[in-house]
Amino acid sequence: MVASSVLGFPRIGANREVKKAVEAYWAGKISADELTKVAAEVKKASWTSVKAQGGEFSLYDHVLDHSAAFNVIPKRYQGLGLSPLDVYFAMGRGRQTEGVDVPASEMKKWFDSNYHFVVPEFSEETDFKLNFNKAVEEFKEAKALGITTRPVAAKEAKPGFQPISLLPKLLPLYKTLLADLKEAGAEWVQVDEPILVLDSAAGLEKEFTSAYTELAPVAPKILLTTYFARLDTNVNFVAKLPIAGLHIDLDRAPAQLEDVVKAIKDTKIVLSLGLVSGRNIWKTDFTAAIKLGQQAIETLGADRVIVATSSSLLHTPVTLASEKKLTEEQKDWFSFALEKAGEVTTIAAVLSGSQDAARRAFEQNSDDTVRKRVAAITDDQLERRSPFSVRKEIQAKTLNLPKFPTTTIGSFPQTKEIRQARAKLGKGELTQEGKEIETVVRFQEKIGLDLLVHGEPERNDMVQYFGELLNGFVFTQNAWVQSYGSRYVRPPIIVSDVSRPTPMTVKWSAYAQSLTKLPMKGMLTGPVTILNWSFPRADVSREIQSKQLALALRDEVVDLENAGIHAIQVDEPAIREGLPLRRSDWDAYLKWAVDSFKLATAGVTDKLQTHSHFCYSDFDDIFPSIQRLDADVISIEASKADMKLLNTFKQYGYSNQIGPGVYDIHSPRVPGGQEIKDRLKSMLDILPDSLLFVNPDCGLKTRGWKETEASLVNLVEGAKWARENY
Ligand code: GLN
Ligand code: ZN
Repeated sequence: MVASSVLGFPRIGANREVKKAVEAYWAGKISADELTKVAAEVKKASWTSVKAQGGEFSLYDHVLDHSAAFNVIPKRYQGLGLSPLDVYFAMGRGRQTEGVDVPASEMKKWFDSNYHFVVPEFSEETDFKLNFNKAVEEFKEAKALGITTRPVAAKEAKPGFQPISLLPKLLPLYKTLLADLKEAGAEWVQVDEPILVLDSAAGLEKEFTSAYTELAPVAPKILLTTYFARLDTNVNFVAKLPIAGLHIDLDRAPAQLEDVVKAIKDTKIVLSLGLVSGRNIWKTDFTAAIKLGQQAIETLGADRVIVATSSSLLHTPVTLASEKKLTEEQKDWFSFALEKAGEVTTIAAVLSGSQDAARRAFEQNSDDTVRKRVAAITDDQLERRSPFSVRKEIQAKTLNLPKFPTTTIGSFPQTKEIRQARAKLGKGELTQEGKEIETVVRFQEKIGLDLLVHGEPERNDMVQYFGELLNGFVFTQNAWVQSYGSRYVRPPIIVSDVSRPTPMTVKWSAYAQSLTKLPMKGMLTGPVTILNWSFPRADVSREIQSKQLALALRDEVVDLENAGIHAIQVDEPAIREGLPLRRSDWDAYLKWAVDSFKLATAGVTDKLQTHSHFCYSDFDDIFPSIQRLDADVISIEASKADMKLLNTFKQYGYSNQIGPGVYDIHSPRVPGGQEIKDRLKSMLDILPDSLLFVNPDCGLKTRGWKETEASLVNLVEGAKWARENY
C-alpha cells in the first residue's frame, strides 16, 4: 500500500475567515480568544478534509512563528508591555499605538515564490530559548480531534537568513522541541530544508551531518523535505543522514528521481514523491505522475514510497468549490488545495492497484494563428533598427526633452472615488477616468514635469488589467493566495494561447496626449512580469507563454506609436524574481526573458523612446542581461540602496539612459529639496550627465495627493538645479 501526504495547507480558510479575523483583531474589534477560536475552526476543517497532513498553521507567517517560539525577538519589540501575540504581530507588521512606535521587521521572498517571510534577526544578544512549542500544541489539538498530523518542526531558508554559526545555540532547542513531540506521540516529524535545492548548500555537508546526527536519536522519525528545485549532488550527503524519510519535488524537477533513487537505494530511507504541484492550480497529469511513482516503486518497493504534494499547498487557493463563475469545463482543468489533496490519495490508490487513472486534457486550447506566429519569430524582430547612440540623437529631436528630463513611473494616487468609479463603470467609458487623466496631465504641466504620463486611473492592477483584455486568461472569484501576513493576491490564470483582440491602452494614452503639447509616455506591463504574476499553464513552457504575451504587447506598442505617442514604458519588475533557483539554469531563462522584452518593444521606429522600469532591483549578477534589453531608458529603485547599484552600472559601462529613483515612494514622507539635490549630486559623481533621468522610485498609486505634490515639486526643483550646475 502506497501512503499519501500533503506538505502543508493554505491558512486563509475557505471564506477568508482567518484573514478577516486577524484584521478584526488588529482593529480591536475581536479579542485574542475569538481569534484563536476562528483559527481552531479553520485548522479543524483542513485537518478533517485532508487526512495525513503535514505542514502547520500560521496566523501571519511560519518563519515568524519559529522566531517567536525560539525567542528570536529583537530588543525593540521587548519591554513594551505587549502580550506575546501582540509582540508577534508587531514583529510582522510594526505597531503604532498608545506610546508604542516600532517598525516592522524586514520581509523577503520565500525562494522563488511570491510568498514573503519575516526575516529573523539574530544578534549577539539573541537569548535563545523555547517560549512555546507550537508544533506540539497543534499536534495535540489535532489528536484531540482524532486526527494524527505530521508536525513541522524546523525551517531553514536562504543563506544569510540563518547564520550557520548560530547552529550550536539553536540545536538544543530543536532537540527539546523534537523530544517533546516524540513524547506527545508523534510518529513522524516533517523538517523542511528547502535550502538543499540551492547551489550554496553544497558547502554545508558537515553542518547537516552533525546537526542531524544529534537530533535523530531524540526525535520522531524525521522526514526531511526539499522543494522548488532539485537536490543535484547534494543528494550524496543527504542520503547518508540519519533520516527516516526524504521528500523531493518532482513537479519542478522530475528528472532528479533517478539519481535520488540510486542514492538512497541501499538505505532504509522512505522516499516522498512530490507529484502533485504545490505551486500551480492545474490538475495533475496522472499519466506522468503514475509513471514516476512506478519508477520509484520498482527499485524501492511500495512500502518505501509516499505520494505527496510537491511543496506546501500554501501557494494555492483553498478550493474550487468557492468558484461560482468558472464554467464546468474550466473547473475540470483546475485543482486547488482541497482538490489536490484528493489527487494525492487517488495517485496513491492507483499505484497500489486499487483504482484506474484519468487523463487531463488541455490541447483543445491552442490557437493556431498564435502558435504559428511564435514559431516564426526571427532575430531581426528582437532588434531596434539602429543602435542606441543613433536613436538617442533622433529622439532628442522628436521629444525635445531638456537635460536631466523629469518623469514619473506611471501611476498617480488612486483615490477612493477613482476605484469606485472604475468598479461601477467597467472598462470602455471615458468618463471618470477621462476626468482623472485630465487632472493628472494638468497637474504635471503645472509643476513642470517634462515627460508626462496619463496616471493609469483605468487600471485595477498592473497585471490583471492586461489579463482581462487579452485572450487566454481566466479570473477567479476566490482563488486567494497569501503574499504576506494578511495580504492575499488573486493571480489570473493563463489557460490557453494568448492574443490581443483589440488595443488595450491606446485610447487612454492618445486621449492624454491630445490634452497637452508635452510628450506623453505610454505605459504597459511587460511579458515576463505578466507571466510571473499569473498562474501559468502547465502544458506549454513559460518561454512560449512569455513570447505569446510579447507578441500581443508588440502590437500594442506599434499601435501606440501610430497613435502619436513618442515614448513607451514597458514595466518588468518581475524579471529578476523569475530567476531559477539553480544558477546553471539562469542563462536559459535570461535568454527568453530578455528576448521577450525585446520582442515586445523593438517593433517601433528609432524615433520612439522605449523605457523600462524595475523595482526591488539587485542587478549585480545579471547585469549583461539588463544591458541586452536595450531599452532607451530604464528606471530603477535606487533611493534606498545607496549608490551600490549605480556603481554596478558604471562598472559595466552601461551605455543607455537611466533614471535611478531619487526618492522612496513607499512611505508618505516628503523628501526635502536639498535631500534630492544631494542625491542627484552623488548620482552624477557616478553616472555621465548625458544619461540621467530624474524620477521617483516607483509608481505613486499608493500615495496621497498632498505628499505627491510636495515631493514632485522638490524633484523638479532638483532637476533645475542640476541643469544649472552640470
Ligand atoms: N507603471 C507602474 C506604476 O506606476 C509600475 C508599478 C511597479 O513597478 N510595481 O504603478
Ligand atoms: Zn516599481
